[in-house]
This record gives sequence, structure tokens and C-alpha cells, in this order.
Amino acid sequence: MLALRKTAASPGLSLDEVDEPGRPGAGEVLIEVAAAGICGSDVHVYEWTGSYEFMRRRLPVTLGHEFSGRIAAVGPEVSGLAEGDLVSAIPTIGCMKCTNCAAGFPQRCEFRRTIGLTSDGAFARLVRVPALACVALREGTDPVLAALMEPLCVGDNAAEVGAVSSGDTVLVLGPGTIGQAIARAAAWRGATTIVMAGLNDTARLETARRIGATHTLDLADTPDLAAGFLAATGGRPADVVFEATGHPASIQQGLSVLRKDGILVTAGIHAQPAAIDLTSLVRNRQQIRGAHASRRRSWEVMARRLYETPEAVRPFVSLVMGLDRAIDGFEQSRARGVSKVVLQPGLTAGAS
Ligand SMILES: [Zn+2]
Ligand SMILES: [Zn+2]
Repeated sequence: MLALRKTAASPGLSLDEVDEPGRPGAGEVLIEVAAAGICGSDVHVYEWTGSYEFMRRRLPVTLGHEFSGRIAAVGPEVSGLAEGDLVSAIPTIGCMKCTNCAAGFPQRCEFRRTIGLTSDGAFARLVRVPALACVALREGTDPVLAALMEPLCVGDNAAEVGAVSSGDTVLVLGPGTIGQAIARAAAWRGATTIVMAGLNDTARLETARRIGATHTLDLADTPDLAAGFLAATGGRPADVVFEATGHPASIQQGLSVLRKDGILVTAGIHAQPAAIDLTSLVRNRQQIRGAHASRRRSWEVMARRLYETPEAVRPFVSLVMGLDRAIDGFEQSRARGVSKVVLQPGLTAGAS
């Protein structure tokens, strides 16, 4: 089968013919991939710009951790899943042996693997995963939208870390998929003012408005973030700021519009350290919290939302293309002219 792989610790990806994964082992299922989204982290892995050195000893690996599909085969010792079921999967896989896993926090496991980063993922027709990673989707859920489950849950988790509540004023820095997912999650949680800021990002800021942002700021037109933000909110500082850019300077910029006792959640992956005015942070009793990945309960909530309100998330998807056009999809994702690019192995000629 055709698979999009990272084969070397250098820029690029290759579209290779590889063996199918074979029958699922104990506790595993084989999934026929319906749709798999290109994530910002996949683009970083493609560009090989840093922060992904941990992948080096797992290469070659098939990428793709945001996906949906139907169960093609069920291994021994699996209950609650059957052939033909529509599922998505939580990409973080714990060892299921350590104390963190036993306590129900596989995301804290020191021995965890990630589907599509450190074990073979979904940019291929078939992917084999632990049954415990699967989240059942309702029949009738759009599989292309279901490929958004992972980033939507990452956004939902970040909103939870930021304790967004009804009536809040929120600033989201960075209109990439995670920033967009955070804006949508903040809207679902009742935030009434949601400002999305980007730099030279016209198309994605337009998407942010369709997803739930009440205001957008392009810092190319409004270089002073604080002035632009306060103009949008009528002078009200932010209750919660989310940083989803990965640019170190954005942390201090975000803190400058955060209210006293407010929370800044950083969800970006930073290749460089950030400089922060800690005296001001202390005097304003502000908190900085890190948010990463997601918890299972977000997945269960999101599975229902995707089924009930698909239109709320449809604007996330800019392009759907065959796996054979993956490199083109990556180039388009990189250019920031598009939001989510979704690959469908089933659209590929000759992939069977
Ligand atoms: Zn992702
Ligand atoms: Zn573990």
C-alpha cells in the first residue's frame, strides 16, 4: 500500500509502497482509513525545523495522527468494537503498565508512543492501533469532519486548561488549526468575545470568523496588538489568552492584554525560549499554563458535537485530496493560504 513516511532526520517526506500492517494482534484493531488531516506538527516534521528530534530513533515511520476510518479487522481480546464500526483514535498510547497509565493518565506516561509520530500512522490505506485508543463515532458522522477530532479535542483541552467560562473575553494568538479549535471550543463554552490575531493571515482569519471568532486582528495592518485588542473589546482586557503561534514574543504580547489574575495558556510548540517580564506577571498575579494533547472525555464530547453540529466545524476543512497528492497538500498547508488539508487514501488511484 501507499504510505507517506518520514524516512530520514532531514527535510522532506516520501510517498512509498510499503507492506500492509497485517492481522491485528491481541488488543489491537486494523482500521481502513477514511480521512486523515495534515497537522501543523506534520508540517514541522516535513520541514524538520527542530523540536521533533525524539522521532529520530523511530524512523522510518508513517505519519498521520488525525484520522477516521472503519474497522477492517479486530484482534483477539478486544471487546466493544466490531468490523465496520466508524471510529477515530486518540494518538497518544500509554504503556498501560506504569503508575500513570494505571491511574488513567496515559498522556503522562513516560513510555508513551504517538500514532503517526513514533509508531506508524494513518497516511496510508490501513493503520493498526490498540483498541483502547479508538473512540466510536455515530453512524452518519462525516468521516472527513471526523478527521478533525484530534485537533478539536486539543482545542477543547486547552480551553479547559484556561478555565474558559460563560461571558469571558478571550484572545487567541495564531489562526492555525489549534488556534481555530481553541476559538471554537471557547465559543462552545460560552465566551462572548473571542478575538483571533494573526500576522499576514487573511485567509485563515476569515476562517476564524466562520468558526466562532467575534473579531479578528491582522497584525500586518494593526501592528500594536494591545491597541487593536482593546479597540475590539471596548477596553476590556482578556480573561484568558491562548498562545498558539510558537513564536516566543507572543507570550509577552499576550500577557500585556491579560487581566489581573488572568490565565495565559500556551499551546504552541516553541523552538526557542521566550523572554517574560516576571515582575509584571507576579504583580498582576497572572498564571501561565501549558496545554498539550487531550483527554478521553473531550473525545467523547466531541464525537457527539461532530454528529449534532457538523456545520460548526465544516469551515476548518479547506481541501480534501487523494493520498497520492500528499506532498502538494503539505506545500499548501505550509503556505498558510489554507486551513485544514485532509487526505483520503480511498481517493488514490492504484492504492489498493
Ligand atoms: Zn495534530
Ligand atoms: Zn505508561
